Amino acid sequence: MHRRTLLLAALPLPALRPAASRAQGGARIVASFSILGDMAAQIAGERATIRAIAGPNTDAHHFQPRPSDAEALRGATLVIRNGLGFDGWMDRMIRAANYRGPVATATEGIVPRRMAAHAHGHGHGHGQGHGAARREVPDPHAWQDPRLGTLYARNIARALAAADPANAAAHEAAGASYAARIEALHGWIAAQVATVPEARRKVVTSHDAFGYFGAAYGIRFLAPQGISTEAEPSAQQVAALIRQIRAEGITAVFLENMGNPATLERLAREAGVRVRGRLYADALSDPAGPAPTYEAMFRHNVGLLVPAMRGEAA
Ligand code: ZN
Repeated sequence: MHRRTLLLAALPLPALRPAASRAQGGARIVASFSILGDMAAQIAGERATIRAIAGPNTDAHHFQPRPSDAEALRGATLVIRNGLGFDGWMDRMIRAANYRGPVATATEGIVPRRMAAHAHGHGHGHGQGHGAARREVPDPHAWQDPRLGTLYARNIARALAAADPANAAAHEAAGASYAARIEALHGWIAAQVATVPEARRKVVTSHDAFGYFGAAYGIRFLAPQGISTEAEPSAQQVAALIRQIRAEGITAVFLENMGNPATLERLAREAGVRVRGRLYADALSDPAGPAPTYEAMFRHNVGLLVPAMRGEAA
């Protein structure tokens, strides 16, 4: 008797309780990529089940959904996408799966920066023909400015409240406190970057994801054409960047958690600088890694960027 009670208490309860509470009208959220999945989780907590289609360390630009990904839309009560051309595959998946529920666009209301279409590995940048070299597209990486991240939080909270009216007040309140946390994080980042002399606020990295972050904190990110995409940069492009790294004394050279590091490693070697680590831009790390949440991503990136820009030994 005693033994059976022990077993019951030890085995089924921990697994059943969250599932049961979710089953009572909780939202079933499908987010296009890991950062949106985390934002939704921070706001909804135990009130929702959340699936991010492009998961940790996964390049959402070149993502190819599988049939099992489309399957996730069955029974979903809310879909969250970034928009601005970042996750167009999600729209195609929604059409293919005939999902007719609400779709929230996290960047709604944000006036995007522009970026050169060629400079980035976006799916929509491909197949544009030879005349497209100077074409500009909206820069989709708005989450990299935490102040815009607070708008993401509010947009997601509003969508959650509409999709899960029974918990609307809780979602709105959680969204507001999450936005306040991100706002505080912005203050911390600004204070950190302020310790770097303005002339030293230059970073070389492998893809062009930090336009918003750079604009928010007065940092110049260099990611020339070719460095970011599958296409190899020309010898001329590499040589020009090496000259610039040397001439401007740039000490902050970084890889990212996605993509092939070979080109940047070679470039750093030839420029005589050390690669200072790995930044997280478009995808979080897995839970055991250094950037498992949106907030942890900033703390990790800033913790690497600031000493590297200052030229301190790693
Ligand atoms: Zn990107």
